[in-house]
Amino acid sequence: MSLDRLLADVDPLVAGALDAVLDGKELSTREAELLLETDGADFHALVRAADLARSEDKGDDVTFVVNRNMNFTNVCYVGCSFCGFSRHKDEKDAYDHPMEVLLEKTRDAVARGATEVCIQGGIHPGKDHTHYREILEAVKGAFPDVHIHAFSPEEIDFGHRKSGMELADYLRWLVDAGLGTMPGTAAEILDDEVRDVISPNKLKKDRWVEIVTAAHSIGLPSTSTLMYGHIESARHVAEHLGLLRDIQKRTGGFTEFVPLGFIHEKNVLFNHMGARPGSSMAEDVRLVAVARLFLRPWITNIQVSWVKMGPKLAQLGLMSGANDFGGTLMEESISRESGADFGENLPPEEIRRLVRELGRTPVERSTTYRVLRRFDDPEKDPPSREPKREPELSGPTRWRLAQERAAAS
Ligand code: SF4
Repeated sequence: MSLDRLLADVDPLVAGALDAVLDGKELSTREAELLLETDGADFHALVRAADLARSEDKGDDVTFVVNRNMNFTNVCYVGCSFCGFSRHKDEKDAYDHPMEVLLEKTRDAVARGATEVCIQGGIHPGKDHTHYREILEAVKGAFPDVHIHAFSPEEIDFGHRKSGMELADYLRWLVDAGLGTMPGTAAEILDDEVRDVISPNKLKKDRWVEIVTAAHSIGLPSTSTLMYGHIESARHVAEHLGLLRDIQKRTGGFTEFVPLGFIHEKNVLFNHMGARPGSSMAEDVRLVAVARLFLRPWITNIQVSWVKMGPKLAQLGLMSGANDFGGTLMEESISRESGADFGENLPPEEIRRLVRELGRTPVERSTTYRVLRRFDDPEKDPPSREPKREPELSGPTRWRLAQERAAAS
C-alpha cells in the first residue's frame, strides 16, 4: 500500500479542514464537530496535523509548573452529580482546614520547589466572602513569592453574592490580597441544557462567562477547561470551544486550555444517571488534537491532565497537539475521590523523564507561562527535592536484603 493510498483514504471534508487550518485559517464549530468524530485514516490525519501545528506554534518544548493543590474544605452543598469529593458537614470525613494547615502545606510545597499553590474548595454553607480573602492574606503574608492560583468561578460567584460589591470590585479586593490567577474550572460543558442535568445548582453558562470576562477585564488571567466523557455530544464540545475562542478574542485572558476527562467510578452521574464511563483513549487524543487546531492562534497552550489520563496517555496527548504537562500537584483529591488512580504527585524529575522519552525538552514555567528554567542537558538536572522515602520492596527482595545485611554484620 503506497503513502498516496493512505492519504486517499482521508475524507475530503476532513482533509479540507486540516489543510485550511494548517494554512492559517480558522476552523468553524461545524468543522470541529466533524473532527471530533473522526476515526481510521481521518483520525490519524487529525493527530498528525495537530502535532504539526503544535510544533509550529510552540516548538518542541514541553512546559510544566511546580505546584501544589490544596483543598481547604470538602464541605459543599451544590451537589454536582459528577462529584465524588464533596461532603455534608456532618459526615465523619468532612474537613474544614484551619489556616495553620494551609500554611504548613504551603511551607512544604515551597521546600519542594513549588512556585504556585492552587487553592480551591467546596461551597461551605457556613462561610462567606471574607473567608476567601483571609486565605489569600494568610498565604501571601507568609509566602510573598508564591503565586496563588485560586477559586473557581463557582467560588467567586458564591463569594461575590455574599459580598454585596460590584463583581469587578470584589475581584480587585481578592487581587489586592494576593490572588494571582483564577482556575477556569466549574465550566464542565458551557451549555445550560447539559448543566441542568449534571449540575443544576451550579452557576449557569452566562454567569461563568460574566465572571471570567470580568476577571480578564481587571487583568486577572484564568485557565480554561472542559469536562468531557459523560452525557455531552460532539456539538456541545465544539460549541464550548467556540465560546472559549470568542472570549479569548475579546479579552486575551486565558493562559491555557485543559481538557478534563470525566472520572466515573464513584459518583451519581455514572452510577445512577446513565452517563458514559468517561472518555475512550481515542476521545482523549481527538479532543487534544481538535483543541490545538481549533483554538490556534488564540489559545496556544494546550495542557494534558496526567491525573485524569495517566502519564502514558498524557505522553500520547503531547504527541497529538499538546505542549504543556500541567503541574506536579503534590496532593490531589478531587479526581482521586471520584475514582482516578494515577496518584497525587508527579515530581519534576519524573515529568522531565516522561518529556525526554518523547525527544522533547522539559521547561519549567510560571503559572502565566514565563520560562523559569530549561532542562536542555539531563546531566545538569538539579537533585530531587522530594522527601526521602524507602522504596516499597517485594517480599523476596526484602528477604534477600535482610540476608545480605545479616551476612555483613
Ligand atoms: S464539583 Fe465543586 S461545586 Fe460541585 S459538588 Fe463538588 S465541590 Fe461542590
